Amino acid sequence: MAKLVSPPAFDVHDLRSVRGIGPARTAALQTEKGVATVEDLLSYFPYGYLDRSHVVRIADLKSYRPRSHADTPTVVAQVYRKEAPRSRRSQKVMFILTVRDDSGFMKCVWFHGYKWLNEAFDVGDVAAFSGEPVRDKRGFIQFVHPVFDRFRGDEDEPDWGSLFNTGKIIPKYSSTDALERVGLDSRGFRTVIRNALRTHADLIEETLPAAVLAKFGLRDRRSAFSAMHFPESEEDGAAARERLKFEELFYLQLMVALRRRRAAEDRRVQRYVVDGPGVGRFLTDLPFELTTAQTRVIGELRGDLRALHPMNRLLQGDVGSGKTVVALAAAMMAIDSGYQVAFMAPTEILAEQHYRTVRSLLGAQDVTVRLLTGGQRKKLREDVLEDVRSGRAQIVVGTHAVLEEHVAFANLGLVVIDEQHRFGVLQRAALRSKGHNPDVLVMTATPIPRTLAMTVYGDLDASVLDEMPANRKPVRTAIRTDADKEKIAAFLRTEVGRGRQVYIVLPLIEESEKVDLKAATVEFERLRTEVFPDLRLDLLHGRLKGEEKDGVMDRFKAGETQILVSTTVIEVGIDVPNATVMVVENAERFGLAQLHQLRGRVGRGADQSYCILMANYGWFDAHPGGKDTVGVAEEKDSARRRLETMVRTTDGFVVAEEDLKIRGPGEFYGTQQSGIPELRIARLDEDGALLLRARAEAFALVESDPHLRSSDHRCLRHTFDRRYKELVGLGLIG
Ligand code: ADP
Ligand code: MG
Repeated sequence: MAKLVSPPAFDVHDLRSVRGIGPARTAALQTEKGVATVEDLLSYFPYGYLDRSHVVRIADLKSYRPRSHADTPTVVAQVYRKEAPRSRRSQKVMFILTVRDDSGFMKCVWFHGYKWLNEAFDVGDVAAFSGEPVRDKRGFIQFVHPVFDRFRGDEDEPDWGSLFNTGKIIPKYSSTDALERVGLDSRGFRTVIRNALRTHADLIEETLPAAVLAKFGLRDRRSAFSAMHFPESEEDGAAARERLKFEELFYLQLMVALRRRRAAEDRRVQRYVVDGPGVGRFLTDLPFELTTAQTRVIGELRGDLRALHPMNRLLQGDVGSGKTVVALAAAMMAIDSGYQVAFMAPTEILAEQHYRTVRSLLGAQDVTVRLLTGGQRKKLREDVLEDVRSGRAQIVVGTHAVLEEHVAFANLGLVVIDEQHRFGVLQRAALRSKGHNPDVLVMTATPIPRTLAMTVYGDLDASVLDEMPANRKPVRTAIRTDADKEKIAAFLRTEVGRGRQVYIVLPLIEESEKVDLKAATVEFERLRTEVFPDLRLDLLHGRLKGEEKDGVMDRFKAGETQILVSTTVIEVGIDVPNATVMVVENAERFGLAQLHQLRGRVGRGADQSYCILMANYGWFDAHPGGKDTVGVAEEKDSARRRLETMVRTTDGFVVAEEDLKIRGPGEFYGTQQSGIPELRIARLDEDGALLLRARAEAFALVESDPHLRSSDHRCLRHTFDRRYKELVGLGLIG
């Protein structure tokens, strides 16, 4: 047999150049975790650690107190008995080891992996088991799913050195069945990553300027990587983590600072008259007094429209805070100056609603407002398009149809985007390209937690409507169940008797929209004929045609309909001050932001309003989530948290912060859509203070070196080019 003289030569970036990684592992790493290079492998950080320096005798587990949250006791014991009973609940095969040391016996229990475990352990084997000591029903100490290390060699003389890393903190890596099949369980990862760190540490390049490291007392990147995997102490690990979090947040803010810088370099084309006759008349003709916040924000917009570069502003305001009026004031300034205004909404219903609102608020003014939606009939649409082209249409209210290629504006000056979170960065870019770099006002009713606002919208100026119109009372919210149905029906009857109106919202699950729609129709018929045969009910859903929808909304606005049964199409922006009760069926199925939006449909007038959340947690038992979702118990738990948050507060900011905690930023604002890079270590909901420091530094740096040309900043440019190419592709660095 020919002997291999020299090992095959691999590129150092090739995973196979790491000792212990061959073709099978390379393939598994790639498909399972997207780990394709050595750098990826080195960045495959542990999800947790195990402080194995704490070896405990079985008898002492009863009185065991952890020294820190990472501290898990380790027991070195011998396998005494193996069992594989079936779980009484799930009927799956479990695996139970009874193990002993010289102080006593205990059990180690696994609920899956029986086959593999049964092969891994023989009676008489010695192993180290680390886990959380819990008691079974009879008070017997056990570990559930402990991490373990089997000892090679002699039972009496275990090989402590190579296998059992006493005195060390051990990283835990997430794995999958496929990875485990090629030996890359947590322990397998530990070995190959240790190997990679020994031979490939040079690949870990510094990405932060020396001055920044020194200023914030951050450690160098290479040692941080090493300590992320194999910290010598808790503090060592914490310092490594801090360094890497800072890096992520710093780059995020660098991107924001560069975007902002670029926007500031734009010169405006439009010239506005900001105190013309139109806006003056509009403001004096309003049927109510502006709030102080509204007046302040209108002033900010006026300033923007007079500035040298185009407006790029985010207007945040809780539902009902009166954003539309503020936007219309800016619109009137544009119209006074001879420009067109595009007013965009995320759904047709909302666009139609805005169209009506705009027309009624501008009632006395001589302004041409046109509605442009996808569902319009061809002839009408042609007519609208012609008005947009010729410039006759001064305000164009629409859905994303306004973004389509063939929609040409004569003289677009201002773009108002309502409910921004439904629009992606790219769409925003498309809109900007419609005019001569128009002024952009983005409005959102979802109050954005500060940390998120500084990232997702960090390149925009921000205004907040932090004040509700004076006559508002906070909505009273309660959680109820089906057992309360009769009482609720009686309550609705009383409210209707007092001349008020009611919403009943039914949930829709997207995947089976048709079935749900049928269910909604059936429920509507039941309510109409059995529960409230004497009242006037109507049904609103997304499948209705344009005029049908209009009809339903008009009847409700006019007060003819007493109870509007609806799917979630009413979620955003519908404005009927006389509606005082919102009943949400299956409220547990809604997200927090959505519930807050729904609740925002009531409490818009001077009367006390109510929001009744119908909870049916049992729904989760019948509809366990897909394979990516957590278990039923966790789903129920987070649903409960959502509903309780709704009862506790009506403050949109509190709701949003809580939502961010429950859902995590990734889901809160799909990162892909928002155009921000994915954060792997830092967390926007926890690392606010670090974010602020990173932000200040990044902004100062861009101020002093706007194009990152200085030699001290070469590593920044380099990293940007490597990591953030796609985002740079959006024209961020320019
Ligand atoms: P949102 O911020 O949710 O978009 P809207 O602009 O739809 O709020 O305003 C909600 C309701 O409050 C509308 O009926 C609007 O006419 C009314 N409104 C706005 N500003 C005031 C105010 N200063 N005083 C009283 N009512 C107001
Ligand atoms: Mg609105």
